[in-house]
Amino acid sequence: MSTTTGTRGLLEVHGVHKSYGTLEVLHDVDLTVQPGEVTVILGPSGSGKSTLLRVVNHLEKVDRGFVALDGDLIGYSRSGDTLRELKEKAVLAQRTQIGFVFQSFNLFPHLTVLENVVEAPVSAQGRKRSEVEVEARELLARVGLADKADARPRQLSGGQQQRVAIARALATKPRLLLFDEPTSALDPELVGEVLDVIKALAHDGTTLVVVTHEIGFAREVADTVVFMDSGRIVEQGPAAQVIDDPQHPRTKAFLDKVL
Ligand code: ADP
Ligand code: MG
Repeated sequence: MSTTTGTRGLLEVHGVHKSYGTLEVLHDVDLTVQPGEVTVILGPSGSGKSTLLRVVNHLEKVDRGFVALDGDLIGYSRSGDTLRELKEKAVLAQRTQIGFVFQSFNLFPHLTVLENVVEAPVSAQGRKRSEVEVEARELLARVGLADKADARPRQLSGGQQQRVAIARALATKPRLLLFDEPTSALDPELVGEVLDVIKALAHDGTTLVVVTHEIGFAREVADTVVFMDSGRIVEQGPAAQVIDDPQHPRTKAFLDKVL
């Protein structure tokens, strides 16, 4: 199902509710991301940040509300099941336009670095392997791993694996890139090399939504900072405003703890 929202954001999340059983995980969430913008989502553990990203990527269905990518609207309601087949096609189409980088890298362990990057464009997008390989090598160079193309993931450090995961996410040429705590699983000395790659993407105008606890990164790179608590967006605005002059007591309490 596809229609037009009449709004200008690349990503529009509108009125989204999501529950697991009786646990309400997202409550009336609205989020707009403009093309080329970097949005950082902050919030305590369990506040719904990962669920929000999973909803954006259609890994989870919403109970109410909708997610739209560049005006292509995909929404669900409990009464809307008759449109499911059409929606599933739209979901698949939309998902290929969104890249996702996880905390735990999730590389294919049996494939080489190059094969990891080449996999999705060839198998999901049906593109020519020889062509994709050229691009994949360029992407590996972009994340500083040109010399690791033939290595296996287990031969790489966590920071290197995460940079491969970023190259892999870029390989399908997504319009939007989602990061879920991309540096949380890394040893402290490896965090910087991954943040530097994300900063370079931001600088190049890639549209990013990043869940992170790295406040310094948020202050430096984010256009918009969103603070979530208990399934709600309690505050959002320019990074400097939300981080240095938070208005909501929950935001203040959270930042006092992490800063
Ligand atoms: P965050 O990423 O901010 O830590 P999550 O979105 O992972 O938060 O989780 C929000 C809440 O939803 C938590 O209470 C979590 O336990 C719960 N939750 C997440 N996924 C599931 C699931 N598949 N089934 C049941 N509860 C879930
Ligand atoms: Mg999470």
